Amino acid sequence: MHSPLADDLARLPELLQSARDFAARELAGVDERPVVHPGKAPDHEPLPADGTGAEGALARFAERWAPGFSGSAGPRYLGFVTGGATPASVTGDWLTSAYDQNVSGAAGSWAAALERETVGWLRELFRLGEVHSGAFVTGATVSNTVGLAVAREWLGERLGVDVSREGVSALGPVDVLSGSPHSSVSKALSVLGIGRDRLRQVPVLAGNREAVDVTQLDAALAELGGRPAIVVANAGTVNTVDFDDLRSIAALKERHDFWLHVDAAFGGFAALSPAHAHLVDGLDAADSVCVDLHKWLNVPYDAAVQFTRRRDLQTRVFHNSSPYLGLPTGDPDFLHLTPENSRRLRALPAWFSLLAYGSGGHREIVERNVALAHRLGEGVAALPGLRLSAPVRLNVVCFTLAENPTQERVAALAEAVAATGEAFLTPTVYDGTPALRAAFSNWRTSEADTDRVLATLASLPL
Ligand SMILES: *Cc1c(COP(=O)(O)O)cnc(C)c1O
Repeated sequence: MHSPLADDLARLPELLQSARDFAARELAGVDERPVVHPGKAPDHEPLPADGTGAEGALARFAERWAPGFSGSAGPRYLGFVTGGATPASVTGDWLTSAYDQNVSGAAGSWAAALERETVGWLRELFRLGEVHSGAFVTGATVSNTVGLAVAREWLGERLGVDVSREGVSALGPVDVLSGSPHSSVSKALSVLGIGRDRLRQVPVLAGNREAVDVTQLDAALAELGGRPAIVVANAGTVNTVDFDDLRSIAALKERHDFWLHVDAAFGGFAALSPAHAHLVDGLDAADSVCVDLHKWLNVPYDAAVQFTRRRDLQTRVFHNSSPYLGLPTGDPDFLHLTPENSRRLRALPAWFSLLAYGSGGHREIVERNVALAHRLGEGVAALPGLRLSAPVRLNVVCFTLAENPTQERVAALAEAVAATGEAFLTPTVYDGTPALRAAFSNWRTSEADTDRVLATLASLPL
């Protein structure tokens, strides 16, 4: 064995202790470290021939790279929708690496059964029934892609072709209808050979809304003249966290033939809060559902879950059968259900967090984040130079400059906020006007943090 490797093997417990000490120090400081690092990353170094051993690598990382890592796990990183990682989920994540299970299937390990238990807990959390089977994937983009792949196979079933064998061209042009889809839906359609241009945006409700106008959706489906289609419903839009009326959309199935995919990447967590659960009423009527876990469940990257009612079609798309693996049977192994073949035990961090804090603990995170978004929203509305772009509906505050909100001025404001190191917000365009978003989804964020963000905004020349 190469000597640095042999030395590391001999000193593995000490090495893990060093990593623990380093991680503990970094996390203890995450509240106070600059939220983002706009500076330039170090120049690349040559590949070493012999290597330093892991202690040497840790020292080099600490010196060269760690100072430039963002505080995205911390409480005032409000860009995109970025959850942190709960203490229990970090514990589970470390053990995932230590055990290094390959959860492609159930052979020889209980790891796949643990993933199934976790999927069951998540199903309960999002109020889905037994009819929805689920699997872990890397993120909502892949979850949407898998859901839409099953939808594509379903279209084949309706039209009497086997897409997994004949290819997507056997379907002819596919119709995908949605009100305010996330950009990952276009990406999924590109990957799936359906094509980005096949996504038709249906008008949204009038009056500062991002939810689809169900009457317009009804009319758009009627125009298809009976041709089966795919509807992507949005349960939590990224700008203003608006929700499509899932029950009414599902009811359109009485008149039209479509697959209902719901992108509930972070909005699905409304189900955890009794005051907001009505927003996802009807989620259980979906044919496929996407929920991200590295956002509002606060597990480390990367993890999401994908639910579907048609595991048979999912298996048709994703099965990976070769003579030695055997054909998928009644309860197919995960490798027959997801794009990956070899798979990390992504379920373990979620399992740890769900066991450690229960549905009540995760509900508290969701409710606190929502309350904090309202707190920031009220503060922003009261600042003379700013105005809300839309009411705060859940956990995102979408706001802009009260006067002359050009792309340049809004981008400059985002940069000025980031330059303070106090907070990180991301720019967007809402209803044609450049704006900023502050998204609350981190378990650490407190009222004091929210007030610091507000103080930062108040301190800037607007
Ligand atoms: C974040 C998000 C996605 C994409 O999620 P990734 O985990 O980044 O792949 C898709 N849909 C919605 C609504 C999102 O908020």
